[in-house]
Amino acid sequence: MKCALVTGGSRGIGRAVCTRLAEAGYHILINYKGNEAAAQETLEAVKAKGSTGELLQFNVGDAAEVQQVLGSWLENNKEQQIEVLVNNAGIREDSLMFWMNEAQWTNVLNISLNGFYHVTKQVLNQMLLKRYGRIINMVSLSGIKGLPGQTNYSAAKAGVIGATKALAQEVAKRGVTVNAIAPGFIKTDMTAELNEKELAAQVPMNRFGTPEEVAEAVAFLASKAAGYITGEVLNINGGLHT
Ligand code: NAP
Repeated sequence: MKCALVTGGSRGIGRAVCTRLAEAGYHILINYKGNEAAAQETLEAVKAKGSTGELLQFNVGDAAEVQQVLGSWLENNKEQQIEVLVNNAGIREDSLMFWMNEAQWTNVLNISLNGFYHVTKQVLNQMLLKRYGRIINMVSLSGIKGLPGQTNYSAAKAGVIGATKALAQEVAKRGVTVNAIAPGFIKTDMTAELNEKELAAQVPMNRFGTPEEVAEAVAFLASKAAGYITGEVLNINGGLHT
């Protein structure tokens, strides 16, 4: 069974990615942090595409929990191969630097950047041994351009972009590609309280993107057809470039 692991698969972009990769025939490992009802809905969507899946609850920012849940899954499913890893889990806790407290800084970095490390470390070995793998990291326009009020989030996403480029070069010879996707404004819970009308006016396409539009790009980078693309950051932002 070929598996795809999607962190933060219960809602938003992650759910659309799970559904799209199910369409591509993968057994989907749906990671989530706490919202089990939403994760179940994703599982139903995966099944509706004619595929299979299962839920894996762990906090990507907690090394011990990742080891316990994902490590055990790998140990108990040695015959399965995780071919695709989508490091999608992320949060934002916006504040101007002047008011940003230590917890806001640490939480955001921990989940995006340390989360990338904890999860990728678990999955990479098998990819290297099998000489095949696709790692796709969900970053952000904020990590490229830097956005005021998001020093924590911009730093976390820029960190993951650096890691993407470095790891891509480390593992290229082993048939593993590592790429990042940098969305602009996408309609999800994360952007629900933003002033969409005002912000969409800054976007050349004059609208927010959809999770499905991001998922389509993930599916391409996850495909065999994208085998010569690595260390790349693909912007999906309706023309809202730096
Ligand atoms: P979202 O709707 O807020 O969903 C977040 C997802 O991440 C949920 O599935 C949540 O699980 C999971 N999650 C949060 N913290 C976690 C943790 N510590 N461990 C495991 N899972 C965790 O977010 P989204 O808008 O889909 O964003 C997905 C990714 O795209 C993020 O990395 C975000 O930074 C990036 N991004 C989003 C936008 C945008 O405009 N939406 C733009 C650029 C980049 P629960 O359901 O269990 O809480």
